[in-house]
Amino acid sequence: MLRSTLLKLSGNNGFAHWVTSNSVTRRMSHRFVAGETLDEVIRTACELNKAGMAVTLDCLGENVATATDAQKVRDTYLEIYDRIAREELNANVSCKLTQLGLDISAEFCEGLVLSIAERAASYDSFLRIDMEGSIYTQRTVELVKRVRAQTPAVGTVIQSYLYRSESDVNDLLSYGCRVRLYKEPSELAFPRKADVDANYVKLMKILLASGFYHGIATHDPRMIAETIRAAAGKRISKDDFEFQMLYGVRTDLQRRLVQDGYRVRIYVPYGLEWFPYFMRRLAERPANLTFFLRNLFRS
Ligand SMILES: Cc1cc2nc3c(=O)[nH]c(=O)nc-3n(C[C@H](O)[C@H](O)[C@H](O)COP(=O)(O)OP(=O)(O)OC[C@H]3O[C@@H](n4cnc5c(N)ncnc54)[C@H](O)[C@@H]3O)c2cc1C
Repeated sequence: MLRSTLLKLSGNNGFAHWVTSNSVTRRMSHRFVAGETLDEVIRTACELNKAGMAVTLDCLGENVATATDAQKVRDTYLEIYDRIAREELNANVSCKLTQLGLDISAEFCEGLVLSIAERAASYDSFLRIDMEGSIYTQRTVELVKRVRAQTPAVGTVIQSYLYRSESDVNDLLSYGCRVRLYKEPSELAFPRKADVDANYVKLMKILLASGFYHGIATHDPRMIAETIRAAAGKRISKDDFEFQMLYGVRTDLQRRLVQDGYRVRIYVPYGLEWFPYFMRRLAERPANLTFFLRNLFRS
């Protein structure tokens, strides 16, 4: 109920304007979003690197309306790679296909993705294509496979809640594709959290056994413990996979995994379009809403 109200509010322009122009809510957004500019996110990336964590940078935004806007997004990502290289950061990039014109034309979008992946490859880096709503799953998997056939510097994301995910994982592995695995609450597919978790563990084991380097993306201590157990059982080295978590979520767990010698990569979003992302993070936990309201009334 609370979650759906917050998610509905994330589509409300008046509320968006109020949140993004209010100094208190802008400050609060910094818990989950590194800032609005490239300079700010680079500073955050430096700090996380110093704390022993790799990062993946995402310039927030989705569903662009014109080819010109998609090309501007492509230019932004090219600039991010140049900057990462110049600052010698342990960082790569995550982006969404609808930000790169997938709604306009898959062929056009593929051209932009390829140019970004080639820039990533030129720096020996990597481009992660995020998975969006389930209406985009098929097109995303197809496009990523086509780009992967041209460069190894691209991979994508699989969500454990979809029935089709096991077959997508096997399909992507046959292309040598690196996968980020995460779970997401949804009424769309596996209806029970226990089934989503069970599928997460099943897919995680397939990925670990594949011999490619994957991202196990979760803040759930049970999923993390299952991963550590599965890797140890199969004698898979700590350097052969990484845990991934969101900026500002379970920082205690992030630090503990680094201390225990695991590779950890933090997903760090930034940009002017931070409002829907911020609302999604708030909606995920009732405690986040308490944090939001407490700070608002304190101001
Ligand atoms: C690397 C990465 C990339 C992601 N990319 C996207 C994306 O592009 N778009 C998108 O919408 N979602 C994204 N997600 C979020 C994902 O969709 C889930 O919502 C999120 O990961 C919750 O699942 P969980 O594995 O943390 O398990 P859960 O069982 O949901 O959570 C486990 C524990 O984590 C903590 N936790 C989880 N979420 C929060 C939160 N928001 N605030 C505070 N504590 C929290 C709580 O302690 C909770 O008990 C991403 C997640 C990761 C880790």
